[in-house]
Amino acid sequence: LESSHEEQNAMESDFLDWLRKQLSSAAHFPLGLSDDAALLPQCPGDRLVITTDMLMDGVDFEIERCDVQRAGRKSLAVNLSDLAAMAARPVAALISLALPRRAGRHLAEELYRGILSLADEFDVVIAGGDTNSWDGPLAISITAIGTVSEHGPLLRSGAQVGDTILVTGTLGGSILGKHFDFQPRVNEALLLSECYTLHAGMDISDGLSLDLARLARESRCGAVLEIPEIPVSTAAQQLAASSNDGRTALDHALADGEDFELLLAVPPAEAERLLADQPLKVQISPIGHFIEPLGLWQSTGDGALSPLSAQGYEHPL
Ligand SMILES: [Mg+2]
Repeated sequence: LESSHEEQNAMESDFLDWLRKQLSSAAHFPLGLSDDAALLPQCPGDRLVITTDMLMDGVDFEIERCDVQRAGRKSLAVNLSDLAAMAARPVAALISLALPRRAGRHLAEELYRGILSLADEFDVVIAGGDTNSWDGPLAISITAIGTVSEHGPLLRSGAQVGDTILVTGTLGGSILGKHFDFQPRVNEALLLSECYTLHAGMDISDGLSLDLARLARESRCGAVLEIPEIPVSTAAQQLAASSNDGRTALDHALADGEDFELLLAVPPAEAERLLADQPLKVQISPIGHFIEPLGLWQSTGDGALSPLSAQGYEHPL
């Protein structure tokens, strides 16, 4: 955790002392915060999977109005969800914080408490990072490193015509709380990829219909959603009931972001076996299949298909 600002050195070394104490129980890396760079142990045959995500105050949350520990936990959880999407086992994370000067130290400690609670749960080593202060708002950038065995990686491009579309959990309304407290589907993805043939997968971060359209496009096929089969969450129902914007619970399930559930393409016979087993604590639902005609389609039960528009969170750039 090097600093480029000399005036921060005293504050930073004090913070690093604090951080090392927090990490001491989990320090099973030979090198880490006390050297210039981290050393990762290597497992022959495994491949590394790396992902990064930046969360910014005012864009992804409003730090004045949210629980800072929850924001910290989320900043790691989104990365772990991306590793789960690839069926990778999380190994380490690098944490970079740009802290507002006012109350920066307090913020840093609270963020780390949230981050470390999740890191402990998934045996993720905090291998390093950078902590700076500035006159701007809080930004948290986390890079997570995982490994895939011969069962992985799970890609978006492997879906085949005829494959069943499976989804974990229930969808929609994450703004009521799940977007902070979701459980990254790491163990689920590892178990499924080990015990079943999966053709393709991703995590749903921007909305079911938008993310499914992306997966289908990468696989050069189309996707049909069986509308009555979509597992609509209680939160989606609550949102639909409590606001009069005309959006139904199904609309929320189709288009709300930050569900962080797994979306999978599985050969039909394998999907049947998986659904009969229901090997996870969380429910898995079949919600459609892949077809040759490109694009996103809906089936309402009578066999007729109609186009479905892909809606969800588009990242502004
Ligand atoms: Mg993702």
